[in-house]
Amino acid sequence: MTQHSESNKVVVIGGGYAGTVAANRLRVRAGVDITLVNPRPTFVDRIRLHQFVAGTGDATLDYGTLLGAGIQLAVDSATRIDTATRTVRLASGRALDYDYVIYAVGSTGTTPSSVPGAAEFAVPIAEFEPARRLRGRLAELPPDAPVTVVGGGLTGIETAAELAEQGRTVTLVCGGTLAPSLSAPGRRSVAKWLSGHGVAVQEADVVTEVRPDAVVLADGTGADAVRPSALTVWTAGFGVPGLAAESGLRTDALGRLLTDETLTSVDDDRVVAAGDAAAPSGRPLRMSCYAAGPLGAQAADTVLSHLAGTEPAGVGLAFSGSCVSLGRRAAVRQLARKDDTVVNVYIGGRAGARIKEMSCKVAVWKIRREARKPGSLIWPKGAPRPEQQTPAAQEITSP
Ligand SMILES: Cc1cc2nc3c(=O)[nH]c(=O)nc-3n(C[C@H](O)[C@H](O)[C@H](O)COP(=O)(O)OP(=O)(O)OC[C@H]3O[C@@H](n4cnc5c(N)ncnc54)[C@H](O)[C@@H]3O)c2cc1C
Repeated sequence: MTQHSESNKVVVIGGGYAGTVAANRLRVRAGVDITLVNPRPTFVDRIRLHQFVAGTGDATLDYGTLLGAGIQLAVDSATRIDTATRTVRLASGRALDYDYVIYAVGSTGTTPSSVPGAAEFAVPIAEFEPARRLRGRLAELPPDAPVTVVGGGLTGIETAAELAEQGRTVTLVCGGTLAPSLSAPGRRSVAKWLSGHGVAVQEADVVTEVRPDAVVLADGTGADAVRPSALTVWTAGFGVPGLAAESGLRTDALGRLLTDETLTSVDDDRVVAAGDAAAPSGRPLRMSCYAAGPLGAQAADTVLSHLAGTEPAGVGLAFSGSCVSLGRRAAVRQLARKDDTVVNVYIGGRAGARIKEMSCKVAVWKIRREARKPGSLIWPKGAPRPEQQTPAAQEITSP
């Protein structure tokens, strides 16, 4: 337990699901000076980016009703956390003093350098700016132009389905099993919907090259096939921003800030992490909006404990499954145990779609509620996480 009750300036880096909840929750304690740093003046509702690309929904919201009174929004990017001087340096040249930082920079879409042409000609969907580029590119294409979606995970499936329902000609290249995180029955339901809506699913194929108007596929037999692709959307693999490592803080192999179970950095107890960019004990929770809100709340609680000189609680979150949309009228709501292992039960069709839409709305509703009523977010805690491993046992990158 560390007591730093003399001052209370908190800089929250990243205004996504975790950062906005954290900033709002800090208002539980009067007199905390809260600045939220985010590169855009609007909140990006990332779980709707596939809808934004396909033209079936918006993915930005005004911060107005999402942030509680008194929170200062700095539209800027953090370029370094200077732990020696306790300042966050910003791209604009400004520097913000802090007593605590909440590190909530989220995750990013990546294109692999190992695949020739991927960085130049494929566009990731996981962030707002590339998603806007995808939307613009689609608008310029004839409706029947071939579109390739790379990645058979939930983001790739949602993207392929959304585009197919809008009449696009879509190939989904999985590079392995389609929807590996779902149960076998859930997977079959997804496969049936995709084939029924004309999506060509190349399950085992791997994209080995991206060209301006084509992709090269390998099926493992040594026979490459060149397929026309007017637009290639890359959804395989998420990365994280490099800010923690660039600031000299230890991270896991992907670049998530390495913390203890209270989300406090193993290197500096004035830096606390939340959301996709956090790796508690080197064993991060599944990257998800579902986990980001509770982790944001927990990060705020940890900072408030440090300020009050009390013992912060350890991470606890019970999962209940995941939900993958299949256009606007269907979804697969996969059920899971609290530890996130799936069971062979899912809710499909229109009922699944209603659950999915409701959970998207609830994600934003929870942020607004926390803005109005700090401390209101509660979440299912589940069993304590298994015995904490020492960071040395993990694959960790040193700065
Ligand atoms: C198409 C799509 C669909 C998805 N669907 C689901 C779903 O159905 N369910 C689910 O649970 N999850 C879903 N996810 C995953 C979910 O969106 C992420 O796990 C979630 O956004 C993580 O929240 P976060 O607050 O950690 O980060 P983010 O929401 O990514 O927010 C991070 C913020 O930090 C900002 N930032 C980054 N670097 C800096 C910096 N240096 N300085 C200042 N600010 C910075 C970013 O710009 C961003 O605004 C989906 C993702 C995508 C792309």
